[in-house]
Amino acid sequence: MTELVPLGKPTAPVVSKDPRTDLMGMSLDDLSVYVESLGEKPFRAKQLFKWIYGKRVDDFDAMTNVSKVLRARLKEIARISRLEERVVQASRDGTKKFLWGLEDGLQVESVLIPEERRMTLCISTQVGCPIDCDFCVTGKGGYTRNLTKSEILGQIVGATLHCPEDQPLTNIVLMGMGEPLLNLDNVVETMDTAMDEDGLSLSHRKITLSTVGLIPQMKELGKRSRINLAVSLHGTTEEQRTQVMPINRKYSLEDLIQALTEYPLPPRKMVTIEYILLAGVNDSVDDAHRLAKLLRPVRSKVNLIPYNNNPFTEYKRPADRDIVAFQEALMSHGVHTVVRLNRGNDIDAACGQLGGYEQKRPKRERA
Ligand code: SAH
Repeated sequence: MTELVPLGKPTAPVVSKDPRTDLMGMSLDDLSVYVESLGEKPFRAKQLFKWIYGKRVDDFDAMTNVSKVLRARLKEIARISRLEERVVQASRDGTKKFLWGLEDGLQVESVLIPEERRMTLCISTQVGCPIDCDFCVTGKGGYTRNLTKSEILGQIVGATLHCPEDQPLTNIVLMGMGEPLLNLDNVVETMDTAMDEDGLSLSHRKITLSTVGLIPQMKELGKRSRINLAVSLHGTTEEQRTQVMPINRKYSLEDLIQALTEYPLPPRKMVTIEYILLAGVNDSVDDAHRLAKLLRPVRSKVNLIPYNNNPFTEYKRPADRDIVAFQEALMSHGVHTVVRLNRGNDIDAACGQLGGYEQKRPKRERA
């Protein structure tokens, strides 16, 4: 097994070397407070919001409906930051992986996945992750810090600049590095900006947050946002789930299922249950029957994710016939089930492969 080098020590809040105020990441409310502090009329906030997120410009001179005097002033005291594109890798299947450089020298990844009628961006919410699921590459590198609002929206704005004109960004999944519910305020506010019709104008139906199931934060999310919820389950008994996800000691399978039955789902929506298939660990037909039974009270669909083998753990992806048998057993109970394809595998961009490293890795075994 290969050891991952820790990402770095936790750092103090990000302090930029640039003294100008960064407007990237600001919500409409933040911008209103800012323009008011400059003695400007409130409608200026909306104008800036539209330019920053709707039109995605980073140059005040392009803001033609803002007075010349204000533009000149903003150029001196403010900026609209962009993430540094350290590496952009393209996969044979069209998937693109971005390694972004942050202002304190750390880095995170996002993955842009083109499909026939969708363009999905998978974004990170933390540098590293403190949850430490046994099978996850990101967790092996430890945890450094939460991403700021600027860094979360920066990934989205940065990636949209890579979308072909006839294939704009349609979906966002918060399934990159980190546990999004540990960065709840920044996540809720930035997704509000992504959904705002003057912002990135994405529908709440097209944004999905994935969590290991932090119950109190999940309840909070249900109160504060309409984005879709996905939960990483990965086990069908307490013991099995604890083995792969130690967080199960704190928030048990039983309590999690109970919380999901109470989750305030908007009409016609379902919770997505993510279930990694790990050979010989949680992939038996008995597991499939148990999973169906567990989910009976939850309005849900199941996303099966055959494990992406990697040199950092000993878990393995099951054989195809076992994957099919698992899916069929689930479907025999009427559970809506899809198997998630491994996109971007050749550039280490598939689920669970985001480490945030720009390093040479040993040749990986193929599934
Ligand atoms: N922390 C959140 C967000 C990350 S989502 C969460 O865990 O839900 C990333 C998804 O990919 C999770 O369901 C995770 O369990 C899964 N995953 C992690 N490593 C994987 C791997 N090697 N192969 C396939 N899926 C993996």
